[in-house]
Amino acid sequence: MARPDSFEEFEATSLFCPRCRRATPVRKKLLLVLPSGNKYDYVCAECGTTVGGKTDNDARAFHDTIPPAPRRPFQ
Ligand SMILES: [Zn+2]
Repeated sequence: MARPDSFEEFEATSLFCPRCRRATPVRKKLLLVLPSGNKYDYVCAECGTTVGGKTDNDARAFHDTIPPAPRRPFQ
C-alpha cells in the first residue's frame, strides 16, 4: 500500500498541546538562523499552536547563509 508521505520535516515527538488538551504530534519549524545556532519552534500538527521550541548550537547554517565577505560600496 502506498501512503502519501507528504509531511516535510517530522520528528516522532509528541508534546502536550494546551489547545487540544492532549499530547499531539509536533512539527519542527525553523524560525531563525542566528550566529549561535538555529531557533526552532515545535507546533502542534493538528491545530498549529506553538507548543515548544529549541535552539541548536549549529552555527554553520548561519555562515552558509551570510555571504563570506560583504563589501560596502563606499569603501
Ligand atoms: Zn493542538
